[in-house]
Amino acid sequence: MPDTIPNIIFIVLVLSFLGYILYGFSLIIISNIKKLRSFTLFHFYHGINKTMKNNYEIYLLNKFSYYDKLSFQMRIKFLLRVKNFITDKSFEKKGDFEITDEMKTLIAASAIQVTFGLDSYKFDYFETIVILPDSYYSNLTNHYHMGEVSLNGVIIISWKDFINGYSNPSDTYNVGLHEMAHALDFEQKLDDGDFDFYFGNYFDKWALIAKAEYENIHNERASFLRKYAGTNEREFFAVCVESFFEAPEQFKEKLPQIYHHLCILLNQDPMNVDFKLIQQPKRNIEELTSEMQSSLELFNSGFKIKPFSIFFSLVMFSLVFYQFSTAKLGLYSFIIIIPFIIIISIDTIHNSNRFILFNDIMVIKNAFGRIKNIYSFDDLVAVAFGYNRGGGYISILVLDKGKIHRNVYSYITSDENINKLKELLTKNNIIVKDDNQ
Ligand SMILES: [Zn+2]
Repeated sequence: MPDTIPNIIFIVLVLSFLGYILYGFSLIIISNIKKLRSFTLFHFYHGINKTMKNNYEIYLLNKFSYYDKLSFQMRIKFLLRVKNFITDKSFEKKGDFEITDEMKTLIAASAIQVTFGLDSYKFDYFETIVILPDSYYSNLTNHYHMGEVSLNGVIIISWKDFINGYSNPSDTYNVGLHEMAHALDFEQKLDDGDFDFYFGNYFDKWALIAKAEYENIHNERASFLRKYAGTNEREFFAVCVESFFEAPEQFKEKLPQIYHHLCILLNQDPMNVDFKLIQQPKRNIEELTSEMQSSLELFNSGFKIKPFSIFFSLVMFSLVFYQFSTAKLGLYSFIIIIPFIIIISIDTIHNSNRFILFNDIMVIKNAFGRIKNIYSFDDLVAVAFGYNRGGGYISILVLDKGKIHRNVYSYITSDENINKLKELLTKNNIIVKDDNQ
């Protein structure tokens, strides 16, 4: 009798633990099926889709310098977006000429260049692209136009000026980039169509950082940007985008803050087209120690006991106990624990492979959707507090070479542990800043 009762308990524990593993597996499989599918399509199907390469790449390779600088994987992504953009738009003409595939490809490529770092790139609000052979006189402004973006959903481009824009890739004049920047800006301001959420949310921050320079140029003081940028805020952004791609070195040198935040806004850096991380300068430790303290207090007050995690901690504890009591059962428990470790590894590897340049709170929230509170800091990236399957966790997110690496720690609550965490963070020059306000 004394022998059988522990055995029954053990079997029940093992079965529930196996159930938990299955539950974990199913959660991960469900959440990853979509991503795995697009990953597979991306690497295999589109990688060998020669038709797509023949249809679009011939107009870009050695002709479109932005495309030339991209890595193989990025090129596939670029072509795929060009293809989708062309399929999505209706191309119309005004004048006696034929719209060629080259025209469509290059115009689409200029849009994709601007939005390449963003999730949303199709400018849903703009359904029609009208191509004119040359610049045209506008009765509305009494000026000749090389292009424009109209509120009735049309992007107008003068083909001659479009080609001129790309024929000199470093003169900071590019009507294609200019109009696509307007389209991107308009779309989020009109709050219509599938505009890029992160662009839309970061735009005001960028505009605030760039405000002084805009005032400068608006009041006709000398600037690195050309005079036209002073016309209004919309032209300022469009001219910034032109210079961003055509003269990034000079832009960064003359206006480093605006350049840096434009990298964040567009999630790309033309000086590193493979999107290497841009490091922000370190901040003063003393300056923010008190902020960190209040953040930790906030984190502490948000703690809730999770019965689920307590139950499975008990299961784990029982298995470890049996491992020591019987050699054979110890082996079984190892066999059970291994898949669990694999599950955790899969999840961690998956997350660490995300490709992100943004050093910004909203983007990290996007990458780790389950995160509840997140606190950013310079140099490294962020400390995040959230709930995971079975309990709370703290994530230390580190950006390195354009990838997010995450170390997850289980939720801790005692003052002693919080102080330990604080020490650890301070020692690593991590300064916590509450970004939830
Ligand atoms: Zn303009």
